[in-house]
Amino acid sequence: MSFAVKGWCPGALRPMQSGDGLVLRIRARNGRLEPDQARLIAALSARHGNGLMDLTSRANLQLRGLDPSGHAAAVAALAGIGLIDDDPESEARRNVILSPFAPMGGPAWQLAEAIAQAMTAPDAPQVPGKFGFAVDADPPVLADTPADIRLRPQGPGWLILPDGADWALKADNTAQAATRAIALAHWFMQGGVQDGRGRMRDYLRRSPALPHGATPLPSSLLPKYPCDRATGTAGAHPPGPGPAPNGWLLGFAFGQITPAQLAAAAAIGPLRLTPWRALLIEGAARPRIEGAILDPHDPLLRIHACTGAPGCPQALADVRALARSLAPRLAPGQSLHVSGCAKGCAHRGAASVTLVATAPDRFDLIRDGGTRDPAAQGGLAPHRIPL
Ligand code: SF4
Repeated sequence: MSFAVKGWCPGALRPMQSGDGLVLRIRARNGRLEPDQARLIAALSARHGNGLMDLTSRANLQLRGLDPSGHAAAVAALAGIGLIDDDPESEARRNVILSPFAPMGGPAWQLAEAIAQAMTAPDAPQVPGKFGFAVDADPPVLADTPADIRLRPQGPGWLILPDGADWALKADNTAQAATRAIALAHWFMQGGVQDGRGRMRDYLRRSPALPHGATPLPSSLLPKYPCDRATGTAGAHPPGPGPAPNGWLLGFAFGQITPAQLAAAAAIGPLRLTPWRALLIEGAARPRIEGAILDPHDPLLRIHACTGAPGCPQALADVRALARSLAPRLAPGQSLHVSGCAKGCAHRGAASVTLVATAPDRFDLIRDGGTRDPAAQGGLAPHRIPL
């Protein structure tokens, strides 16, 4: 099992080199793009990138295949529409996912804004790369979205749930929830970072002390996490595609979207980025976008496949081609994860069947587990893969 763990995510100011050029990740504020913003991003992808974009599991949009000579022009254009932070460190810390169903200006919207503001202030806790927040709305839809600190509405107040804890902090109102979430991040910084890295779940395993105000949670309120092997998520589905409280959700195979698709969506209305590799078009009713997935039973929605070869330098195989060829054989309710290496970027949890490339045409097969679980069968050729 050999792969590099980078411990940080690409941003717009600090893009990441990949096999197909630079990856430039755009963190839209509260995950919302006005049509003009989306149109400009589509044009940047066509002009400076390779015409492929990813809808990421952190509800971001990333341009792929960016020519290094086009990076400065892309950043200048994005700055002109309010999508660039002051510096790469602030950009990395502004890691907040808001429920795409949260009404604009409502309590969840305000809470996500307040946390983002606090995390980019000079006195923000200097959390490591990948440390993030998820702000849910009513009804909650982010229980399976990985986050170090999760905030969920409860009556007029909020529950603040650290990842992996059986306790929570409570807040009576939105302002108090933002303050306590940031205080929890400061508490994490007291011992949660080792060698520049750290996640809340790992810190809680090591730390015997609880922060002031911690309240035990009944099991009914404990969120289920996709990275928790005890709970697992084989066969679990995120929302959509279909009607949503504030518009319509469109699916895209493997979260890959083209400039033409993004521009077509922007022609219908403002967009919300989701952590489910889907796009929400506000106010839309059954929009038609060529290549988008409208059928909630489409097997491609139950398949996770990373960038793979040739886009990722660590990939050992073209996993998306294999995933598409296997899609028609997927049984109802069955989920599939095809990974170019054991790192498992596309999906952190379990799937009914997980395939890990060990060579361009060889795969290890894991049942009801993740990429790092023991393989039931090894070295399978594509035509011999049993689902
Ligand atoms: S899981 Fe896929 S995208 Fe991630 S490093 Fe491995 S090959 Fe690359």
